[in-house]
Amino acid sequence: MAFVNENYGNLKDSYLFADIAHRVADFSAARPEVKVIRMGIGDVTLPLAPCVVEAMGKAVQEMGKKESFRGYGPEQGYDFLREAIAKYYRSFAADIAMDEIFVSDGAKSDCGNITDIFSDDNTILIPDPVYPVYLDTNLMRGRKIIYMNGTPENGFLPMPDEKVKADIIYLCSPNNPTGAAYTREQLAVWVDYALKNDAIILYDAAYESFVADAKIPRSIFVIPGAKKCAIEFCSLSKTAGFTGTRCGYTVVPKELIRKTKDGKEFSLNKMWLRRQTTKFNGVPYIVQRGAEKVFSGEGLAQCRANLAYYQENAKIIMEALDTCGIRYFGGIHSPYVWMECPRQMNSWDFFDYLLTKVGVVGTPGAGFGKMGEKYFRLTAFSSRENTQEAMDRFVKEFE
Ligand code: PLP
Repeated sequence: MAFVNENYGNLKDSYLFADIAHRVADFSAARPEVKVIRMGIGDVTLPLAPCVVEAMGKAVQEMGKKESFRGYGPEQGYDFLREAIAKYYRSFAADIAMDEIFVSDGAKSDCGNITDIFSDDNTILIPDPVYPVYLDTNLMRGRKIIYMNGTPENGFLPMPDEKVKADIIYLCSPNNPTGAAYTREQLAVWVDYALKNDAIILYDAAYESFVADAKIPRSIFVIPGAKKCAIEFCSLSKTAGFTGTRCGYTVVPKELIRKTKDGKEFSLNKMWLRRQTTKFNGVPYIVQRGAEKVFSGEGLAQCRANLAYYQENAKIIMEALDTCGIRYFGGIHSPYVWMECPRQMNSWDFFDYLLTKVGVVGTPGAGFGKMGEKYFRLTAFSSRENTQEAMDRFVKEFE
């Protein structure tokens, strides 16, 4: 008899975006004359940078010729891309060796797959509100999960509580959904906590390229000691519009050593290499050539132009909220603006209100945890015209 993993019974149905889609479809069917503007989904809308498309086109041609065709590549990524990523890290002062970088098909897979190399006896500390992948992938393993609350008082940036003993800590900065970003000093406190407790920080830097101030870290590895206690996930999804192209990377420092319960030491870098070479067969050559181009001078400049477009959208959202006197977080180092629901509404009531009265779709904070009940996420990924129109309508309703 084949038994299934009973831990799946502990997962809540993932209804958030399906539920949103149903409500929008119902509304559009009833009121077809209303132009509904979508500011809910965390997906990019601008196309890939032209030089990236060109690099991928060239790689396609290479694959079509006998002399330059390539089959399986190294599971952890081609050296040309790992070198480009290492150089990128050095540009903001994090010294990462090429063999500490593992190329993948995106941060979501790695955030989930990393659970393979840790014991299920660990206690997992997760922020609330949170990107749901951290929670669900640990629930799937039946692990003990404890929460730390993001609140307006801590700026949605929970800090360690010395009384709480956690073994694995998820941090996401700049944060999805709140847009909040840890300062260097705050991250240094987290690194200190992790080192004292022999814990591991799983640091999700998927939005690092939105950081708009050199004082805010774009990598946890700028903090001294972090290479002894942190793994970092990164992605080209938001940096370079790769949500559909798929490429990310994970940094597992060679200094990371932890023990089994009976005291045997393991290198996490070696474990992750073993995990990836066993269960993963690499990212397509064509995609890796495109990714390599992202990190070139030309690629970075073209991607920055797209990021600037989204950042300007975020500014439009924040100015409208300022005009209405609505409190919000994020928006500066992030494409997400995390606003308080007006009139004490809870997040689903506000969702319905905004859809039916203003014709704008956002994401209810409740979808990211109980601390999101009174909050709402707007994203800067729409077109300029739609963002402007949505916020003009918003101001008319809430000013
Ligand atoms: N991490 C966070 C915080 C995200 O918000 C997302 C996507 O929205 C991801 C990771 C997934 O990124 P990828 O597209 O690289 O899988």
